[in-house]
Amino acid sequence: MKIYSKEELNNHFLSLTYDDLSLIPTVVSQVKTRTEVNIKLNFMGVDLSVPVVSSPMDSVTGIAMAKELNSLGSLGVVNRFGSTLNELFVEGKIIEGIKAVSISLAADDSMVEAIAANNLIVCIDTANANNAHVLKKCEEIKKKYKVKVMIGNIAHGNTLRDLVNAGADSVRIGIGGGSMCTTSIQTGIGIGQISSLLDVYFTRKEQKLKIELIADGGVKSPGDVVKAIACGADVVMLGRMLAGTKETPGEIIKYNDQLWKKYRGSASFGVKMKGEFIEGEETMVPYKGAVKGVINAISDGLKSSMSYLNCESIEDLRNINTFAILSTSSYLERLPKK
Ligand code: IMP
Repeated sequence: MKIYSKEELNNHFLSLTYDDLSLIPTVVSQVKTRTEVNIKLNFMGVDLSVPVVSSPMDSVTGIAMAKELNSLGSLGVVNRFGSTLNELFVEGKIIEGIKAVSISLAADDSMVEAIAANNLIVCIDTANANNAHVLKKCEEIKKKYKVKVMIGNIAHGNTLRDLVNAGADSVRIGIGGGSMCTTSIQTGIGIGQISSLLDVYFTRKEQKLKIELIADGGVKSPGDVVKAIACGADVVMLGRMLAGTKETPGEIIKYNDQLWKKYRGSASFGVKMKGEFIEGEETMVPYKGAVKGVINAISDGLKSSMSYLNCESIEDLRNINTFAILSTSSYLERLPKK
């Protein structure tokens, strides 16, 4: 079996995603216990104890989620919709533990001003960062305010330099891979999440660009988080994995003797509620209890994987270069059987 490096994965003739890959430990690990592994990092000037950022979706990150994630050492990006928008900018709750806030392309200066005044990160939340209006907005914000800007999304590194020139500090990578996303079906656009990430990673490296990389969409498990970091992501952005937890906005629903919460795409009908083009789905996910459980599982998965791979730090994990490409039956073999 061939062991692939990141370069070789990037040159693979097919587009790849999380389930196509596995990590191979090839050296004798010097790590004695998982507890000595360090998964701390700094992302966009914020110290994190786990490389996780929440998606600014209205069924994922409201103020309660952001507060809890911040206290757990990950980063909550508060959504820009309906009641949350009101709480942030009308009721003035912007300061309540929030380290990052998303805005739409149409957001006015007063919103950015409030975000900058509170030393928060601004996320320009659009589906396509390869757009002159998005880049212009980013440029204007960076010129007027002293604030860090996250933009997205891109699926390829070709325009990375334009994003950096517009002043973007980080970029969300992935088009069509989100679990509620119908973009690829509706538009035919998008490639596998790992291929997107690697393309951007190598573009940044080859062009010596300074921008942080967020693997956004399609992350289903702690193992996928590890794969994203090993393929060069600075952090992962999660929607589905955090959906259904206690801290997400929305009610707990009892149905068929089970507890559920709603999870929906930002471009779903439920969010748009008007005759715009729909590129997202809505669903119910089982209620998971406190988000702490999800973050702890990711942290434990990362530490365990790093002890297999002889990595003492997140930086070591990013430098891992021993991957396998799985056949479908190898992938299925890896799943637990009942
Ligand atoms: P998930 O973690 O796989 O559920 O993916 C979450 C990501 O999907 C978000 O961070 C967005 O990048 C993307 N996303 C959210 N809503 C939509 C939508 O309605 N259509 C397409 N993509 C979406």
